[in-house]
Amino acid sequence: MSRPGRHFLQIPGPTNVPDRVLRAMGGPTMDHRGPAFAELGKRALEGMKRIVKTEAGQVVIYPSSGTGAWEAALVNTLSHGDRVMMFETGHFAWLWDKLARRLGLAPRVIGSDWRRAADPDAIEAALRADSTHEIKAVCVVQNETSTGCASRIDEIRAAIDAAGHPALLMVDTISSLASIDMRMDAWGVDVIVAGSQKGLMLPPGLSFNAISPKALAAHQTAGLQRAYWDWSDMLGPNANGFFPYTPATNLLYGLVEAIDMLEEEGLSNVFARHDRLASAARRAVQAWGLEVLCLEPRHYSSSLTAVLMPEGHSADGFRAVVLEKFDMSLGSGLSKVADKVFRIGHLGDFNDLMLMGTLSGVEMGLGLAGVPHQRGGVDAAMRYLGETVPTAL
Ligand SMILES: *Cc1c(COP(=O)(O)O)cnc(C)c1O
Repeated sequence: MSRPGRHFLQIPGPTNVPDRVLRAMGGPTMDHRGPAFAELGKRALEGMKRIVKTEAGQVVIYPSSGTGAWEAALVNTLSHGDRVMMFETGHFAWLWDKLARRLGLAPRVIGSDWRRAADPDAIEAALRADSTHEIKAVCVVQNETSTGCASRIDEIRAAIDAAGHPALLMVDTISSLASIDMRMDAWGVDVIVAGSQKGLMLPPGLSFNAISPKALAAHQTAGLQRAYWDWSDMLGPNANGFFPYTPATNLLYGLVEAIDMLEEEGLSNVFARHDRLASAARRAVQAWGLEVLCLEPRHYSSSLTAVLMPEGHSADGFRAVVLEKFDMSLGSGLSKVADKVFRIGHLGDFNDLMLMGTLSGVEMGLGLAGVPHQRGGVDAAMRYLGETVPTAL
C-alpha cells in the first residue's frame, strides 16, 4: 500500500540516505579495472583516511556489512588462542565477543549492566594484572548502539598507556563514525571497524578497516586463517586505487559524495549538530517522565537515545503503533533489553525539523499506545532547539 509523504526511518542505522548520495549512486556501473575507477578508488580511500583522522594509517573497504569488518580486524592481526579483552557494553559488544570465540580467540570479557560505557579503570587494572602480556588486543565499541552509551576512546587509550601494555586497540565505530569524533592517530587506535549505513549516510553494503602501522606489523605474523578478508590482498591493488575483486562500484560513488557532504559541512560542525540534536531528544524524554537507558550523562550517545519503557508496557507494541499510525520506524530493544527499550536514531542526514517530526511521532504514539507519560516533550525539545540555533546559520 502506498503511504503519502516520506517514511521516517528513525532507527539507529540504516539511516536516511540524502538525495545527493542516492543520485550519485545512480550513475552507470563502470569498469572496475579501468582508469576512471582508479580515480574513484583513490578518492574513496583517501577520503576515509580524513574521516577517521589518520595520516599514518591505511584504510581498506569491503563489500560487506559491518560484521565483516569485525571479522577482518581480528583475523588479520591475531593468532589462534590469543587473549583479547572486551568490554560488554551491550548487544554489539557481546556479538563481537561471540564472533571472536568462533574464530578461536580467547576473549576476556568485562561485564556490565548494559547501562554504561566501557570503564577505563577496569581496563587499566586488567592490563596491569597481565604482566606477561598475554592480552593481544583491547576491543571496544565506541558507541554501543543497543544502549545509547558512548565510550571515551581517549580515556581508554590513556588507560592502556598507563598500564604500559602493548595490546592493540581495536574500536568498533560503526554507529559513531561521522557522528561522534574519532581521532585515529591522536588516540592511538590500531584498528577501526566501520560500516556505511549509519553516520556515513549510505545504504548498507560497505564496511571498513583503518589500520595503524602497529596493526600492520601484527598482521605480518598473525596466524588466524583468512582469505577473503586478507589486508595484504587489498593493500597491494589499493595503492593504485584498485581492488583485488569486484568492488561495490555504485556504493563507492555514494561514499565519495557522502564524504564531500561531510567535509562541506565540516566534521566538527557535524559532531556539534549530532550533540545538539541528541540533547534536544533527551530533553523530550525527560519531559515525558521517561528514563534514558544510559546512566552516565558524560557517556550519553549523540547518535541515538535508548528509552526505557515504564514497567509493564511493551516497547515493541508501542513501536508497532508508531509505525502503523505515523509511518515511522523506531529502533527495537536488542536481546537483553528486547521489548524493554525503544531507540530513537538521530544520526546521519538529520536536522532540527526531522527531529521535531520524530519526537512528535513518539509523543503521539505514547498517547495512542496508552503508555503513561507527561505531555510537553516535543515542546521542551523545540524550546531547546530554538534557543541554541547555531550562529553560523
Ligand atoms: C550496526 C552495528 C554493528 C553491525 O553492523 P552490520 O552492518 O549489521 O553487520 C556492529 N556494531 C555496532 C556498534 C553497530 O551499530
